Amino acid sequence: MRFAADRMLGKLAKWLRMLGYDTLYSSALSDDRFLELAEQGRILLSRNTRIVDKMASNRLIIVKGNDPKIQLKGLVRLLDLRLDPNDFFSRCMVCNGLIEPVERQDVAGKVPDHIWSGHDSFSECTSCGKIYWPGSHLERSRREIERLLSV
Ligand SMILES: [Zn+2]
Repeated sequence: MRFAADRMLGKLAKWLRMLGYDTLYSSALSDDRFLELAEQGRILLSRNTRIVDKMASNRLIIVKGNDPKIQLKGLVRLLDLRLDPNDFFSRCMVCNGLIEPVERQDVAGKVPDHIWSGHDSFSECTSCGKIYWPGSHLERSRREIERLLSV
């Protein structure tokens, strides 16, 4: 299942990426361009109820509520989304690219020295090059997901 989130749903898009779901998001996307993404097989997520008039489709979900965590929880329940901890953190939070493990050697000089010397495993976004490591932020996010969704 692949998604596209409208410009009101940037935080929800990040959560979906964190769970491993391919989720397009751009704050610069026009309504028309956004609607086209449904034809490419994506499920559209929107906060904009007026968009329903432009497109009656089973590919469009109007997301309710302002809290991204509540939005996520509702979506997981609605679509009965499969949550596999092995898929968590497989996509870049920034650009939706796939994240793959890289040799520690290869990130020397690309991350702060204290990070490099303090960690053994690193991953890199194959699309934008952002480097990830198992830090407190990831662990915190993982715990938050587990608590929220009872994984
Ligand atoms: Zn990226």
